[in-house]
Amino acid sequence: MTQALAPALEPITEDDAFIAKALEDASIPTLMLSMIHMSGDSSLLDGSIRPVGLYLNEVQGFMSEEDKAEVRKQALEVIRRYRDSGGKPVRIDDHETIRRMMSFLVAEEVPADYVPMMLEEMELDGDARELEWDSIPADQRADFHVTVIGGGMSGVLAAIRLKEAGISFTVVEKNAGVGGTWYENRYPGCRVDVGNHFYCYSFAPNHDWTEYFAQQPELQKYFEDCLDRFGIREHFEFNTEVVKAQFDEAANQWQVTTRCDGLEKTKATNALISAVGQLNRPKLPDIPGRDSFKGTAMHSAQWRDDVDYRGKKVAVIGTGASAFQLVPTIADDVAEMKVYQRSAPWMFPNVDYHRKVESGAQWCMKKLPFYSRWYRFLIFWPACDGLLPSLKIDPNWPHQDRSINEVNEMTREVFTDWMKQQVGDDEALLQKVIPDYVPLAKRTLQDNGSWLTALKKPQVTLHTDGIREVAERGVVDNNGELFEADIIVYATGFHANKFLWPMDIIGRDGIKLREQWGEEPEAYLGITVPNFPNLFCLYGPGTNLAFGGSLIFNSECEVRYTLSAIKMLLGSGQKVIDLKPDVHADYQSRLQNELSDMVWSHPTVKNSWYQNDAGKVTVLSPWRLRDFWEWTREVNADDYQLT
Ligand code: NAP
Repeated sequence: MTQALAPALEPITEDDAFIAKALEDASIPTLMLSMIHMSGDSSLLDGSIRPVGLYLNEVQGFMSEEDKAEVRKQALEVIRRYRDSGGKPVRIDDHETIRRMMSFLVAEEVPADYVPMMLEEMELDGDARELEWDSIPADQRADFHVTVIGGGMSGVLAAIRLKEAGISFTVVEKNAGVGGTWYENRYPGCRVDVGNHFYCYSFAPNHDWTEYFAQQPELQKYFEDCLDRFGIREHFEFNTEVVKAQFDEAANQWQVTTRCDGLEKTKATNALISAVGQLNRPKLPDIPGRDSFKGTAMHSAQWRDDVDYRGKKVAVIGTGASAFQLVPTIADDVAEMKVYQRSAPWMFPNVDYHRKVESGAQWCMKKLPFYSRWYRFLIFWPACDGLLPSLKIDPNWPHQDRSINEVNEMTREVFTDWMKQQVGDDEALLQKVIPDYVPLAKRTLQDNGSWLTALKKPQVTLHTDGIREVAERGVVDNNGELFEADIIVYATGFHANKFLWPMDIIGRDGIKLREQWGEEPEAYLGITVPNFPNLFCLYGPGTNLAFGGSLIFNSECEVRYTLSAIKMLLGSGQKVIDLKPDVHADYQSRLQNELSDMVWSHPTVKNSWYQNDAGKVTVLSPWRLRDFWEWTREVNADDYQLT
């Protein structure tokens, strides 16, 4: 069981003074639930000292300093007794008590139908997402070979699950190491924007994160470490790219062509798992003269460590998530920087975005029973499904030019006030940084104030007059003014709507996936595609999350579904699993129906990677996490044809 690989709870050996100091860094609501696991006494769920509010990434439940101090005092006593008696944590199996604990922690009622999903996520019941394989003979599993394309977060996850299943597999990775997006995006300041104690596999928590939102090297190391932690390294072929995969109807297999060092090889495999992600093919803008620049030009996702930006004049094109992290990180080191903005980003306040994990908080994760598990729930819940209903456009809302409904209007006010506070009386800057589209329609960025602080620095200018061309010596704006630059950074995003591109994927009857999809990629549950048997997509079309959650959560759902489909196939004695076209058509019509009146499709939005060139949203999921979890728990045999 994977469960055994989760870090074991370490015994408490520290003295009272040490513990008291560590508790200064604890999330007090989380500590209160851990106390129940130590004492077995749940009466504090009924007490007057309790969390009173909830906000994303706020882990103290808005409790008063007085109440927190009282809890720390009581906790010290509970921990002391637990430590001195060599106590064992009390397991709580009763779902109603667990639901009460959940509701207590987040200061609102957690509906009963969320409990099983959250229990899985927290692993209070062990690794429930691992499938049971005893019904399929081991040699049958070992004879079935799966090729996983891509060794990023979801490819590593698929590998872990395939290994547990005893299925033979190879992971083909174009880079020299694992991590995918966390391998490639090495620009200064690159970090995750989902709380890290949630942004890690549910069955492989990490108590050693040094920051609450870790930076790229630490994230890449986490995935790298998983190769040894789960014994899957030998299955990876690095520096190897899949260029083509063709379904061989006579053999009922895929023929996969890979390229390594210029050499192409073709091998047969029974099933194909695409784990290539949505944001891995950098997009350079069509700006005239781009190739004429004589200085150094690079895309943010192809950062060159050998380029020294210190003391240089730097042009940054783009103000999306990558630029938002890069610009503040290098601003103090450059001689001059111009940031070319086409659309302003919305940002929401997170004062802890760059915060380090305090040693006391790490101690609590490692030593206090179930603390880290409840903490995961505490940061997941406010990012679960709560926001989703407010992202629906209210057709009767009168202020469609600036918001989509009443909640969105309030969001606009909060976001705008946050920017106003920082900009002060610089009206010209304020005009530039307030977006001209409705809030939450494009990727909203986590902000601790560093972006606007950087833009206000004397050596930094935010440019909004558009770019006419790139010249030999720099960037020329629409007024004809040249900014002489040593370096141009294109923080201009990715070919997000070209799924599985540029690979050639050829299914039944010679049908090319690229042609079947055109500019509108579609997959049932984002995973399976008609005419492409035994092909499973992870983080496929219609699965990107723009309202909360974490892609790791979604990937865990998708991988479980994929493996349950393979298990069904092996159990049936058949060779091929085909999605029924009517199931697919029905799903797509429901998906598009749902997406069409969501904020991401709003007419004020232009140039969003959430939309394809025709303005249609194909990459996002409009579904509640709760629904996606339910639909992907197990493959439904009626949806497929087995032959
Ligand atoms: P992006 O969000 O697509 O932003 C690209 C930027 O380049 C936008 O400001 C865009 O302006 C601008 N741009 C594109 N073409 C241009 C042109 N021809 N002229 C001028 N400006 C142009 O790309 P990204 O910042 O790399 O982020 C992509 C996604 O990656 C994010 O949305 C997020 O999902 C992920 N990401 C996540 C993190 C994180 O979690 N911490 C960090 C980085 C990236 P318009 O807005 O007008 O198109």
